[in-house]
Amino acid sequence: MSAAQGWASSPFEVIIVGGGMVGTALACLLGRAGLAVAVLDAREAPLDRGAVGKGPPSMRVSALTPVSQQLLEGVGAWAWMASRRVSPYRFMQVWDGEGSGEVNFSAEQAGVPVLGHIVENDVTLAALEACLTKLPSVQVRYGARVAGLETGNTGRTVLLEDGSRLTAPLVVAADGARSPLRTMAGIDVNSRDTGQVAVVTTVRTPRPHGGVARQVFLPTGPLAFLPLRIEDDDHHCSIVWSTTPAEAERLMDLPRQAMGVELASAIDHRLGEVTVTDRALAVPLTQRHAERYVQPGFALVGDAAHSIHPLAGQGVNLGLMDAAVLAEELVTARRRGLSPGEEHILGRYARRRRGDNAAMLALMDGFRLLFGARHPALTLARNLGLSGVDRLGPLKRLLMQQATGHRGRLPYACRALSRRDAG
Ligand SMILES: Cc1cc2nc3c(=O)[nH]c(=O)nc-3n(C[C@H](O)[C@H](O)[C@H](O)COP(=O)(O)OP(=O)(O)OC[C@H]3O[C@@H](n4cnc5c(N)ncnc54)[C@H](O)[C@@H]3O)c2cc1C
Repeated sequence: MSAAQGWASSPFEVIIVGGGMVGTALACLLGRAGLAVAVLDAREAPLDRGAVGKGPPSMRVSALTPVSQQLLEGVGAWAWMASRRVSPYRFMQVWDGEGSGEVNFSAEQAGVPVLGHIVENDVTLAALEACLTKLPSVQVRYGARVAGLETGNTGRTVLLEDGSRLTAPLVVAADGARSPLRTMAGIDVNSRDTGQVAVVTTVRTPRPHGGVARQVFLPTGPLAFLPLRIEDDDHHCSIVWSTTPAEAERLMDLPRQAMGVELASAIDHRLGEVTVTDRALAVPLTQRHAERYVQPGFALVGDAAHSIHPLAGQGVNLGLMDAAVLAEELVTARRRGLSPGEEHILGRYARRRRGDNAAMLALMDGFRLLFGARHPALTLARNLGLSGVDRLGPLKRLLMQQATGHRGRLPYACRALSRRDAG
């Protein structure tokens, strides 16, 4: 329970299970519209806002699009994040490690001030948690692990491990990629092992990164150098190296110095020598897509609905869009006096989000299969493809729209960011 708020017995309109970035963002959007919301998270306590975003960067970061930034500005989280630590990038370089193809994007070409920001996940979450404490209609309970889900006449009831129960017309599962609530609701998931593991760490390089997000496609998978600005120092990057499980195991066993040598060579020494400054973490990469996003009185958002290969840095951006669209539908329904658990309201959310997420999952699969292959014909094709894309203005612009998040009909919460014109 948040320190400032007592755990009231008043009925909730929405229970959100999972106080990660997506669940917390959804609670902020609903709470700002005055909905009575409970957020339950298994973590023992909120993040220590005094400590996050200070000192060495944390290993888990996300590339946030300008569209996600707009949402975070709208709920009042971005100002704190920016005051703590966000790293803008204005250029993207993507190239083929096996050939000569290369694509370069700039924010100027995309018509936006920045292509995005690399932000430590705990900075984003701490800012959202701070916003929640200012919303009187939102109650947050930590150390609250949900162990069961029941359907009744008045909605859904969640059963907590400590034996307590909580009922609301709508329960939203924002409980991550392995979503226990999704299983409890009996929703199947299309799950596919990508055959890759992401090795994540932080490095320092003698040459500044220059605000460029770099990604090289190697035969074993993509390697990203994501630029970090640490107290005006542009020499750190967060590494996401997606590779085969065997190769990941080998990399994890390497001493830091040897891993640095391999990283430097893998990106053609574009930033000079690479010094690994943190331990490495290995994360198996499974793509998942829930067969349905909603049932009466129940909805999935974020990684609980879809988990995607990190090669285009889309996961939490898609999740924040889920939160914005679901909040928009629920707030509109409330104005009309409708219950948030009604199937047709939730159906509108599912229709607006599932197709977009499916398209992005398919795009990532295509990229991974095309660039993961060693066949000479494919190497040639992808070189032609990459070089071709660099010359083809409209297609490149489309790709830039994907990268910045400016695609399709945006929910209101994501619309206002000033930009010249990405289309
Ligand atoms: C290597 C890597 C790199 C990535 N890079 C990017 C990137 O650049 N850009 C991007 O957009 N995305 C990226 N992602 C994806 C991004 O990290 C995820 O999409 C995002 O963290 C999902 O957030 P979420 O809130 O949906 O779930 P989570 O962060 O998993 O939160 C789930 C919450 O639910 C709680 N919970 C779970 N079970 C229960 C229960 N039974 N009861 C109560 N609470 C429970 C947990 O405690 C947790 O707080 C990356 C992912 C990986 C693996």
